[in-house]
Amino acid sequence: MPDMRVVLARELGYCSGIRRAIDAAEAALRSGGIVAATDTLLHNAGEMNRLGSMGLRSVELLSDEELGAATVLLPAHGSTRSEHPGRIAGARVVRDLTCSIVNRARDAVSRFAGAGVPVVVVGDKEHRETRYLMEAAGSQLLMVVASEQDLNTLETSVSHVGVVYQTTQSREFRGQVLEWFRRRGIEVAEEMTLCPEVLRRQDGAVTLARRCTVMLVLGDSSSANTRRLVAVTASACPRTHLICDAAELPDLGLNGADVVGVVSGTSCPQTAIDDVVAGLRQVCPDLHVEMDA
Ligand code: SF4
Repeated sequence: MPDMRVVLARELGYCSGIRRAIDAAEAALRSGGIVAATDTLLHNAGEMNRLGSMGLRSVELLSDEELGAATVLLPAHGSTRSEHPGRIAGARVVRDLTCSIVNRARDAVSRFAGAGVPVVVVGDKEHRETRYLMEAAGSQLLMVVASEQDLNTLETSVSHVGVVYQTTQSREFRGQVLEWFRRRGIEVAEEMTLCPEVLRRQDGAVTLARRCTVMLVLGDSSSANTRRLVAVTASACPRTHLICDAAELPDLGLNGADVVGVVSGTSCPQTAIDDVVAGLRQVCPDLHVEMDA
C-alpha cells in the first residue's frame, strides 16, 4: 500500500466536562465503598463498561441498605428532578457531575422563563440535556426544535421568544433557527449556549476534512456531539466514517487513502485514539502521523 499520512485534530479525547466526570468517578471508586450512577455518566459504552469493571454500579440495582452507604453520581449532561428517585435522598453522598457549561444553558432558560419570555429550546428531543433545559422552562416552554421541520410545525401568535441551545448543537443549525424567526418577524432574544469546546472541534474538523481523502470520527453513535461532528465533517469530506474502535478499520476500505484525518467526539477516550493510530499502522507500516497545524 502506498504511504499514508495521518493528521490528528488538535483537540481529541475528552472535553473538560467529561474529563471532570470521569476523574470524579475514578476517585470515588478508588476510595472504596459503594459507588453508583443514576444513568450513564457519559455517552460512551466502552468507557461505561470500563467504569463498571472498576466497580461502578447502577442506583436502581442497590438495596436500600446499600444505598445508605453509597456515593451516588449524577451524569455530566444534567438530571431532571423527575429522574431523581426519592430514594437518592437516602444515599450517603450525592455528587452532581453536571458540566458547568450545561448548567449555564439551564440558567439562561431559567432567566427567560422567570421574565415570562416564551422559551424555545434547540436540542435533540430525547437527549437528557434537552430534558434538563425543558424542565427549567416549565410552563414557559414554547417548543423544542430538533430540526427545521419542527420549526415549520410551529403555529404561534407570540411576538418574541427566548432561544437557548443544547450545548452540542451546531453553529449552522443555530443560524437556520435564527433566520426562521427573523423571516416571520418574531423578535428573538438569544443566549449563546453552544459549547466552545464542541464548536472548536466542529470548525477544526471541517478545515481538516477539506485536506483529507478519508476522515475518521472516533466516538459512540449514542453521543449527540459525535453525531453532529460526523455531519459537519461529511459536509467537507464524503469519505467520512464514524468508528468506535480500531476493530472497525479493516471494514473501511482504506486503500487509496493517502491522507487520513482523525477527529473525536468529546466522550472518546485517548486509548481508543491510540488504538486507531496503531491499527492504521498495521494497514500501512510506513505511516506518517502528524498533528493538525
Ligand atoms: S461537550 Fe461541552 S458542555 Fe458538554 S460536557 Fe463537554 S465541556 Fe461540557
